[in-house]
Amino acid sequence: MVPVRVRFAPSPTGFLHIGGVRTAIFNYLFARHNDGKLLIRIEDTDKERSKREYENDILDALKWLGLEWDEEPMRQSSRVTRHRELVEELVENGKAFRCFVSPEKAQAIKKAEMDRGGINAFRSPDRELTARESQARADAGEPFAIRFKVPSLDVSFNDRVRGKVTTPAHTIDDFIIMRRDNTPTYMMAVVVDDSEMEISHVIRGADHITNTPKQVLLYEALNLPEPEFAHVPLILGPDKKRLSKRHGAAAVTEYREQGYLPDAVFSFMSTLGWSLGEEKDIYTREELIESFDLKGINKSSAVFDEKKLEWMNGQFMSTLSDNSIQQILRPELARRIEDGAYPHGTGPMLAKAVQLLKTRARFPMDILDKGGYFFNDPTTIVDRKAAKKRLKDPAIPDRLDELAKRFSALSEFTEETAEEALRIYIEELDVNAGALIHPTRIAVSGMGSGPGLFELLVALGKETTVRRMRSLAEHLRKHGTPPIPDDPELELPMIEPVG
Ligand code: GLU
Repeated sequence: MVPVRVRFAPSPTGFLHIGGVRTAIFNYLFARHNDGKLLIRIEDTDKERSKREYENDILDALKWLGLEWDEEPMRQSSRVTRHRELVEELVENGKAFRCFVSPEKAQAIKKAEMDRGGINAFRSPDRELTARESQARADAGEPFAIRFKVPSLDVSFNDRVRGKVTTPAHTIDDFIIMRRDNTPTYMMAVVVDDSEMEISHVIRGADHITNTPKQVLLYEALNLPEPEFAHVPLILGPDKKRLSKRHGAAAVTEYREQGYLPDAVFSFMSTLGWSLGEEKDIYTREELIESFDLKGINKSSAVFDEKKLEWMNGQFMSTLSDNSIQQILRPELARRIEDGAYPHGTGPMLAKAVQLLKTRARFPMDILDKGGYFFNDPTTIVDRKAAKKRLKDPAIPDRLDELAKRFSALSEFTEETAEEALRIYIEELDVNAGALIHPTRIAVSGMGSGPGLFELLVALGKETTVRRMRSLAEHLRKHGTPPIPDDPELELPMIEPVG
């Protein structure tokens, strides 16, 4: 058995995109499942478009996802001399040739064939030049590219996902392996490098499947053993078009900044285009490594469902310890305390907010964004619908004041004592519990729903609870039920400014 060595070979011409991540993950899972090695090759031969910034972004994103690799990442540009040597060898063996046909002329020949309705690929007229003629023209300074002389036999390879793939030779151009500026092309570099890095399996996107026959021809011509190939299906957006920025699918770092957790992204992307044959949505990294098999990769494209990823993030969030969520939030909370937005942003209050909101949040930052009432008195009613429905009754201001008075009189403010005070008052009034519970929740949080009311009241503390209830009562008395403007941008004042 050949030891398993796979590679992820990104071109550093852009940030690591969520689609590229899936290829990296499949390579990682395959390597770990087989006790093999995952190598990184930075395909930076396009000098104009390759940037160090992108290379760093790609490596950072892989690290963030926990995709550790083995051995130093390799830059393809460092191997150009070797690529050229083997191009030379192919020319010497008559398997490749200098082609003096200008790119414009080659284009015109291809176009003429297409216009005729022909299906034949480009055959350079220079493939038949004698060695001497070819040398003489090169010596005279005539520019040339080097093309591979595509033989007339069909090309086949066995794809681990799609099975046998056969390409008729007459549909393959005499492709360029070294450009006129003496730089080797991707086609040449990838074969030489995969071979010399002893890559056993090339696992990559299905967009490369048309390159593979050409690469197979190069392996044969260079007398090198071929790796196995597995082309993984493309990822599509919900509109069934190839996933792109238009679908909101962004660079991995953007997901990271939005608060996605690496384990959630990892788990979600792993199951895009790969079925484990179980009805389960969430897998741990260990489970994924344990069951990964090229056989499970689907032939058809996978659809990227951002809503599901968001949901999954919430699931992973609820498995994090309170401490680690607090740690994620501390720097942002400090910023909000500093700019005056969250005056009650103490450590204990953060701990309570995390404890009560963790299972309701999809992103750690939701706790600060949606749970602002833990850290400051609410100044607006966020949930207008709830306000419209729950604050209609003109008796509410008096009831809020009375309940606040009873809370205030409690020597111990616990979930039990607060609940009891509320129940007693409800019985006296002979109303539904909701008639008091909802206005109280709106008073303390500005929200129509949230964590258990009594847990919330105790977390906020007696003083804050009482202050906010009185404040809403006063506001309602002065202004009546808050007007519910249709324009969602309009602020809806609720609490009278304190002091
Ligand atoms: N550098 C190529 C890309 O980013 C990948 C080449 C390969 O996997 O063979 O699409």
